[in-house]
Amino acid sequence: IYNFSAGPATMPDPVIAQIKQDLPSYNDSGMSVMEISHRSELFEDIIDQAEKDLRELLAIPDNYHVLFFQGGGTLQFTTIPLNLANKYHRIGLLDSGHWAERAGDEAKRVNVKVDVLNSTKADHYTKLPILKDLTQDTYDYVHITTNNTIEGTAYSTVPDTGATELVGDMSSNFLGQQYNIKDFGLIMAGAQKNLGIAGLTLVIVRDDLIGKVKNLPSMLDYQLFAQKNSMFNTPPVFAIYAAGLVLKWLKQQGGVPEMERRNRKKSSLLYDFLDASKLFTAPVQKPDRSLTNVPFVTKDADLDAKLIAEAADVGLLNIKGHRSVGGMRASLYNAMPYEGVEKLVNFLDKFEKNYWR
Ligand code: PLP
Repeated sequence: IYNFSAGPATMPDPVIAQIKQDLPSYNDSGMSVMEISHRSELFEDIIDQAEKDLRELLAIPDNYHVLFFQGGGTLQFTTIPLNLANKYHRIGLLDSGHWAERAGDEAKRVNVKVDVLNSTKADHYTKLPILKDLTQDTYDYVHITTNNTIEGTAYSTVPDTGATELVGDMSSNFLGQQYNIKDFGLIMAGAQKNLGIAGLTLVIVRDDLIGKVKNLPSMLDYQLFAQKNSMFNTPPVFAIYAAGLVLKWLKQQGGVPEMERRNRKKSSLLYDFLDASKLFTAPVQKPDRSLTNVPFVTKDADLDAKLIAEAADVGLLNIKGHRSVGGMRASLYNAMPYEGVEKLVNFLDKFEKNYWR
């Protein structure tokens, strides 16, 4: 089985094997990892090591906090403006698709003004919006989605926002593509693509940006989470443990540069096939294509449905496109092996030969 889901997504086989092995008794404690106290030394070691490994993998500078949250990527659409939009109460947004729009909607709900600085909605988001004419010092930050999970675009170089802070929703290419942490004031990422279990959300934030707003709800207060080492309340122990295993696996594989190399190789195999095909089209313009989410279509919705069903029959699961885009989408996160993409391309080739005249 190869699982091309956009998330929750496939996890590395060795991580699943380790979880199985650890389940009856974690580290000879006689308790499974689901049963250990978050105040125990066992768990402190887990969360400290996960943070250490993440810092090493991403070369996170010392003046950035690593925070473990719950509530998914979506809760961060609220938490980020509450903590960071404290001077102008106004942010800039590059509208690159559904998740950028959602970030803007939630910021408005907490009374932050949102200026859409550019949008590619009229192009059905088949390319990225470019930043132009940013008037300095009028926004608390500019929000971008580094990888657009649904539309299949990704920034390979981030927009230059000058003195204005850049906030990146990196949920769907976190640890799968290299970025410079220092280019961002804050990065957030849901875990369910490249880091394991849904619900857990990572926030990497520069220390001078937090602690400026008094009396925030405790669960939404970055400063409080930083002070409490992400353990203000009971953290998602199992999800943090699983993320720790994924990070260890990533280090063994050669880190983020190696993941990016593999993701480029995997996605090129698929894009090259799609571009040469007479039946399939990859709608995103070439320089903006995502390494991790590849949408593609035929001209016939019935044929798409047939293809998705036949793919599932041969173990190529979850290639149905998002309802807003239609067609198909293959998500090729870090844990998807090259062989899975080869199998998909062979299947698409055979399908084209059978059904295309
Ligand atoms: N941002 C991006 C880029 C996403 O792909 C997703 C979910 O797929 C989210 C945010 C929302 O994450 P969650 O469902 O964890 O709230």
